[in-house]
Amino acid sequence: MSKEELHYGGDYRLIPATSIASGIGVDVLPDLYCYTIQIVNICFVGRPATGEFVLIDAGMPKTADDIIAVSEKRFGAHSRPKAIVLTHGHFDHVGAIIELVQHWDVPVYAHEAELPYLTGKERYPEPDPSVEGGLIAKISPLFPNEPIDLGHHVRPLPSDGTIPELPDFRWIHTPGHAPGHVSLFRESDRALIAGDAFVTVRQDSLYKVFTQQTEITGPPRYYTVDWDAARESVRKLAALRPSVAITGHGAPVSGEELEKGLEKLARDFDRIALPDYGKYVH
Ligand SMILES: [Zn+2]
Repeated sequence: MSKEELHYGGDYRLIPATSIASGIGVDVLPDLYCYTIQIVNICFVGRPATGEFVLIDAGMPKTADDIIAVSEKRFGAHSRPKAIVLTHGHFDHVGAIIELVQHWDVPVYAHEAELPYLTGKERYPEPDPSVEGGLIAKISPLFPNEPIDLGHHVRPLPSDGTIPELPDFRWIHTPGHAPGHVSLFRESDRALIAGDAFVTVRQDSLYKVFTQQTEITGPPRYYTVDWDAARESVRKLAALRPSVAITGHGAPVSGEELEKGLEKLARDFDRIALPDYGKYVH
């Protein structure tokens, strides 16, 4: 593998935001493990005894060593995922991806519409520091936004909804927060990996991010550019009636808390999720 072609954007940097959940993992189901890196979650799908797994998302910048250590602790020394699946390509979901690909030499899958941001072709619209809501939005201009380049290591998800190496799951296009944002759903137990289509912590409040106070809410505001699509995506996911959800930010939720919270968000999206002002709000 040639390592030269892989690179982060020129504005790639460590982001000092963190939360009390950082470094903590939760066994959500026997084969679903949610691990928090600073303010974002990654998810391991696979039973530890088999040593086989798929990694969903790739954490914050400069955290590859942590992710590798967690993988080896759970799945055994020198274990590596069969693939990495990205819910989308924002910096806090691809922060360690290049070191991970170089270390593991595994394929990365993302929705076709995210590929320009993952192959050095296009940058996301700038995050909106003027959006209603808190300090995180204010510091969002610090966030790396230039496209990373995974070269031929990143491949489009199959158009039929299947996910390579994850036969029980299918991907669901949930745009709004990012054009090629996907969520992963398993029909048999209605487990959902939602990415940032909705989250369980108010990402616009530095205090709530730090304390990780659980609250089912819309996608992080400073990055969400298409609120109509985001609303539709939440409704699509609510209609699946998931039994448990791992989201990109905040603690996993299940049962009644999830059912009621997601139903309320779908019904009352504009009041709960839509910012009162911001450059992407019309
Ligand atoms: Zn995002």
